[in-house]
Amino acid sequence: MSATDIVWLESEAALVEALWRPGDPVAGDVIAEVRHELAELASQLPTEQTWRLTKRIVASLVACERYGTAELRREIATPRNRAMDLGTVFEAGVRSWFAYGAEYHAGDDVALWLEAVTADGGTVELDAEQMADVVTRRARLVERLGIEEAWWPRTEVRARADLTDHVLLTGRFDLVVGGAASGRPHHLVEIKSSLALSEEHESELRFYALLAGLRYGPPPASIILLGPGEAVADARQLVMSERVVRDGARLVADALRAAARGLAGAPIERAGPRCTQCPFREDCATYAEAAAP
Ligand code: SF4
Repeated sequence: MSATDIVWLESEAALVEALWRPGDPVAGDVIAEVRHELAELASQLPTEQTWRLTKRIVASLVACERYGTAELRREIATPRNRAMDLGTVFEAGVRSWFAYGAEYHAGDDVALWLEAVTADGGTVELDAEQMADVVTRRARLVERLGIEEAWWPRTEVRARADLTDHVLLTGRFDLVVGGAASGRPHHLVEIKSSLALSEEHESELRFYALLAGLRYGPPPASIILLGPGEAVADARQLVMSERVVRDGARLVADALRAAARGLAGAPIERAGPRCTQCPFREDCATYAEAAAP
């Protein structure tokens, strides 16, 4: 994915235009070729259990193979922080609007979500002001997007692509609109609590582009990213193309090679973004070396 694949949506008109942009069709043989290459790599993984690669696990495997392998084995859970919690609450608010309409009180969904995470050992605490902020930002965002029923909005759409009997890619798209049955272009819409495009965000987009291509055959026309800000400019679009899908495939290929090494007991450690949350830090020579003055 390069900077030119991302279109900045700087006005209401640009946002509407983005929804009608048909995308750059990706040929069926490209998807078939990519699927074949990834299946070859996936077949190198042990078959004692099913390995589920999410966007987070793919990013972790590429960042540090030791950390990513432990996540793939479910030996360590994804750590949560306050920004992630607020982001998830915000997304729950937006999704409830699309699913149930403007009259629906997002607080109910948010309360259920909080109950679930705290039962799981989480420590989320939101005060009244933060809850109100979630609801306000939700209303603003939905208004800006202006998606009506004819777009067939579907929320929390789960997607899965089986590479082999034991290796699969899974993900959940916040919102999917359009598609053949609606007679309108097909897009994924990702709702973000921040649009600062970090490496993690970029890797997420590449993963989703690939997953959507493998799942839907022809991939959607684009992935639209909506931030929570008041400015219309707080929206971007990743226009789909063969290059974007191949880029996603390269990312997943790197993660599969890393998983094969890691599951065979020879992961490569790389000091980087996962170190601050890593449970192996105390006995990790790579980290010690990188942290040494
Ligand atoms: S401390 Fe950093 S380099 Fe070491 S295993 Fe953890 S993530 Fe990898």
